[in-house]
Amino acid sequence: MPELPEVETIVRDVDRLARGATIQSVDVLRPDLIVGATADAFRRCVEGRTIRRVTRRAKNIVIDLGADRLVVNLGMTGRLLVTDAGAPLPSHLGVRFGLTDRRLLLYQDVRRFGRLQCIPVGEWEERDRALGFEPLLDEFTPGALHDLARRSRVAVKTWLMDQRRVVGVGNIYASEALFRAAIDPRRPANSLSFAESERLHRAVREVLTEAIEFRGTTLLDYRDASGQEGGFSRRLRVYDRAGDACRACGHPIERIVQGGRSTFYCVRCQR
Ligand code: ZN
Repeated sequence: MPELPEVETIVRDVDRLARGATIQSVDVLRPDLIVGATADAFRRCVEGRTIRRVTRRAKNIVIDLGADRLVVNLGMTGRLLVTDAGAPLPSHLGVRFGLTDRRLLLYQDVRRFGRLQCIPVGEWEERDRALGFEPLLDEFTPGALHDLARRSRVAVKTWLMDQRRVVGVGNIYASEALFRAAIDPRRPANSLSFAESERLHRAVREVLTEAIEFRGTTLLDYRDASGQEGGFSRRLRVYDRAGDACRACGHPIERIVQGGRSTFYCVRCQR
């Protein structure tokens, strides 16, 4: 499932490749991907509009169309691709946007947990306000993390993945950040000292920033807007490395299940 760095990579790509282009045609091949409107209403909302800017909020790709926002959530296996006219169309195509310069903006989704929506800017802003802290913005401070953590007895790894508090951190980057912060993922969130909260805050930012630099992590499905895999997979320190030697101490990495999701960590390095 794409997390913040993967969505950010796609957002930067699509902004670079498609900003200024006008959406001339919209073909909805999978109407179940459209939320809150019929495929026809969706088409009318998007068609003829110019892409002014592409940004990210949490795991949402937000395309500024003027008075409306085209909001794309990739779900588990969604991809947003910009292709040249005449390039072969991918399988599992959900929505095809034809751009003025004859290129295509394609939404592809094998498992179809993704969703697309075209909504007035006011409605989007209301939703935006209900989302948790953006971990890379200044508003997210060590104090803010500590204040939120103090109110929860949930295991810190599961806590970190709760999008109502801090957005964009999923299974991969929660495990990686806790390793970098040397914190045991099983500990209750409210057991973190201020110093540990500071360490975790720094680790979350570091791992997300590095993962963006390397254009995200591809385990299976994720691709950037040009269809390329992310380069961060080889830099993972614990995620998906059960039984392999810890890069810091050599002890085998453990895998446990928390909240139905795999957690990877080093019992020696993380306390
Ligand atoms: Zn270790």
